[in-house]
Amino acid sequence: MMSCREVSELVSRSLDEKLPLIVRLKVRVHLLMCRMCATFARRVRQLREQLSSGRIAPESVLDASLPAATRERLKQLLKNRPA
Ligand SMILES: [Zn+2]
Repeated sequence: MMSCREVSELVSRSLDEKLPLIVRLKVRVHLLMCRMCATFARRVRQLREQLSSGRIAPESVLDASLPAATRERLKQLLKNRPA
């Protein structure tokens, strides 16, 4: 069983890299059992979708109550976003 810390790290890593299938499965199993991580993962995915569709301002990423590492990754995504 992965720790919540590992899972949240992997969830934010999955924003900019493709995780190996086995890792994704482990994360998925954890998300099924852990409400906290499931909420976190959903929020990260929503933010990413909103950012990529331009529905929210990039600044909202900075204000979001997300771990610093996750915000950093979202900011990187924004920078790399095709104009
Ligand atoms: Zn958890």
